Amino acid sequence: MTPIIYFDVCALVLIAVAAFSIIFRKMTHGVSNRLFILLVAVVFADIVFDLWAVSLDVARETNLVIRYISHTGYLVMRNVTIPIYTLYIISLTDTWHKLKGRFVTGVFITFPITVVLIALILNPFTKDMFYINDNLEYTRGNCFPLVYITALSYVGFGIYYIVRYRRLFRIGQFISLLVIYPLTLTAAAIQLFFPTWLLELFCSAVAVILVAITIQRPEELVDMVTELGKHGAYADAMKRNFVNQKEIGIILINISNYSSVSAMLGYDNSSKLLKTIADKLASINKDMKVYADLYYLDRGSFRVVVNKSSWDKIERMAEAINIELKNSMVISQLELNLMAYVCVAYCPTDISDFRSLVAFGSDLCSAVPYSGNVLKASDVIADRAFKLSNDIDSIIDDALANRKFSVYYQPIFSVEKQRFISAEALLRLIDDKYGFIPPDVFITAAEKSGAIHRIGDYVLEEVCHFISGDEFKELGLDYIEINLSVAQCMQTDLADKVLQIMNKYGVTPDKINLEITETAASYAQNVMMNNLEKLTQAGISFSLDDYGTGYSNIKSVASLPISIVKLDKTFVDEEDNPRMWIVLKNTIKMLKDMDMSIVVEGVENAELAKKFADLDCEYIQGYYYSKPVPKSDFITFMKNSAS
Ligand code: C2E
Ligand code: CA
Ligand code: CA
Repeated sequence: MTPIIYFDVCALVLIAVAAFSIIFRKMTHGVSNRLFILLVAVVFADIVFDLWAVSLDVARETNLVIRYISHTGYLVMRNVTIPIYTLYIISLTDTWHKLKGRFVTGVFITFPITVVLIALILNPFTKDMFYINDNLEYTRGNCFPLVYITALSYVGFGIYYIVRYRRLFRIGQFISLLVIYPLTLTAAAIQLFFPTWLLELFCSAVAVILVAITIQRPEELVDMVTELGKHGAYADAMKRNFVNQKEIGIILINISNYSSVSAMLGYDNSSKLLKTIADKLASINKDMKVYADLYYLDRGSFRVVVNKSSWDKIERMAEAINIELKNSMVISQLELNLMAYVCVAYCPTDISDFRSLVAFGSDLCSAVPYSGNVLKASDVIADRAFKLSNDIDSIIDDALANRKFSVYYQPIFSVEKQRFISAEALLRLIDDKYGFIPPDVFITAAEKSGAIHRIGDYVLEEVCHFISGDEFKELGLDYIEINLSVAQCMQTDLADKVLQIMNKYGVTPDKINLEITETAASYAQNVMMNNLEKLTQAGISFSLDDYGTGYSNIKSVASLPISIVKLDKTFVDEEDNPRMWIVLKNTIKMLKDMDMSIVVEGVENAELAKKFADLDCEYIQGYYYSKPVPKSDFITFMKNSAS
C-alpha cells in the first residue's frame, strides 16, 4: 500500500504561508509570538521528516540507521507539537507566574513528554516504540500507545486551560484555539484505521493557519507609527493582569501639551515626534535591560508595563524617561518642549481594577499640576485634588439638589462716579468633605458633565431674585455682571432661557451684564452669535472677560457686540515690565478708541488702582476694594461705602 503524500505536500504549502505571514508581519517579539514561531518550525520539520520517512519506507531502504532517524525525527516532532501548543496557550493567557511555583502542574506539563522522548531515544535498542521488521517494513512497537496517552493528557490540559480562561478570548479566538483538538484527534483516528492517509500533519497545518488568522494579528495590536503595542493590546494585557492578579508596574507617560504640539506640527511631523519618543523609550528599556512591554495608546500617551522581576529598576527607568522627555526635541527643524507627566503605578496595590487604571491614566494631567518630577500613583491618589476630581460630579449633583451653591458678589468701582456702580456675581461651593472648592475646578467639571446648564440657571435665578428685591434698589447699583461659560454659550436656547428667567423676576435688561470669553466665541460661532444677537436686541449688554490671556483676538473685540472689556489680572500684573506697560497703555487706548469701557480686574492695592485710573480706565475691581463676599456682607459693604 502506497501512502498518500499529497496531504503532506499541502501541509507544507500551508506552513510556508504561515511562516511568510510571521516574517511579513514582523511578529517576532514577545513570548507568545516566539512560541508560535517554534510551533510553525516544529510542524514544518515534522512534515519534512514524515515525507522523508515515508519515501524511505516506500523504497524499502535497507540502511536502517537513516530509517530509524527519519521515523524518530517524525515522532519527536509529532510529540512535542502538542506540548508547545499548550505552552502557547498558557502564554496567551499570561499565567506563567501562576504555574511557576506549582510543583504538581510543573510535573504534569513536563512528565509525559519526557517519558515519550526518553522512550524514543532508547527505541533503537528497545524497539518498544517502533521497529523496522524483517520485510523492511515500519512497524509499531508495544509501547506506541504511549504517544496517544501523552497527546491526550496535553489535549485535556489545553482544553481545560482555554475554557478556564475563556474570558480572555474573543469568541472567534476561543473557537479557533479549541478547534485544533477535534481536528487533530479526528485525523489521528483516521490515520489509525487508514495508515496510508497521511492526514495528521495536514490538520495541524490547518490549525496553525487558523490561529495565525484569528489570534496572531499584529495589525490589531501594533501601532504602525510607533511600532509599539496599541490601545487594544494594552487593554487586553491589563485586563488579563487584573483577572490573574498578576503584579505589574506601569510607567504612565502622558504628554499634556500633545494636542497643541501636534496641531502645530501637522500629521507627518506629529508621527515623527511619536516615533522619536517611542524609540527613546525602547532604547532606555534596552539599555537598562528592563523586562517590559511598551504601548502607545493615543493622543500622546505611552505606557511601559514592567514585569515584577524588573521592579528594582522601575523608578530609575521612569527618571531616565522623564529626563529624556524634558529635553527639548527637534522635529523637522522645529524645537519642541513637551510637558510630559511621568507616573509610576504598582498594580494591583495602587490601582486594583482595569476601569480605575483607565480613569487614572486619563485624569492624570488634569488632576495634578505639572511639576516636572516623576510622580507616584500612590501620592497622586492620596492627593486631595485627585480625589476631588473623582468625586466632583457627585459633589455638584449633591450641591444642586441641596442648594449648597451660593452666589458671592464682588463690587466694581467707577472711577468717574467715585462709587461702586456694579458687582460681579461669583459662584461658591463649600462641600462638607472637601471644604471650599474653587470655581475653576467645579465649573470645568460641570462643563464636562453637562451640569453647567443647571448651575447657570441657578446663578441667574439667584441674581435676578436679588435684583428684584427691595434691598437692591437702595444700593444704587446699575447692574450685576454674570459669567457665562463656554458650554452655556453653545446652548441653542440660552437666550430664551435668560429672558424667561429675567421675566419671571421682572428684571429689566439694563440690570444685567453678561460676561463671555473669546474662547466661547471661537468654539460656537453660529450658536453664540445667535444668542448674542437675541440678547442684545432685548437690551442686555455684554463684557468680554479675561482679556489679555491666551490669544487676544483683536478681531473678536471688534466684531462682537460688547460694551465692556475686562482686563485680566495676569495681564494687569505685567504693569511693572516696561514693555508690557507700553502694551497695556496702548491696548487701553485702542479699546477706548473703539468706545469700549474698561474694567481692570485683580487690583490689589491703591497704587495700581491709581495707575489705571490715570489711564482713564472706567472701572476697577479687586481685593483692594473687596473680595467676593456673600450677599448679606455685600449689602452691608455697599451701605457702609455709601455713608
Ligand atoms: P473670572 O470671571 O475671571 O473671575 C474673577 C476672578 O478673580 C474671581 O475668582 C475673583 O475672586 C478673582 N479676583 C478678583 N479680584 C481679585 C484680586 O484682587 N486678586 C486676586 N488674586 N484675585 C481676584 P474666582 O471667584 O475664584 O472665580 C474663578 C473663575 O471661575 C472666574 O474667573 C470665572 O471664570 C469662573 N466662575 C466663577 N463664578 C462663575 C459662575 O457663576 N458661572 C461661570 N460660568 N463661571 C464662574
Ligand atoms: Ca468674570
Ligand atoms: Ca476675568
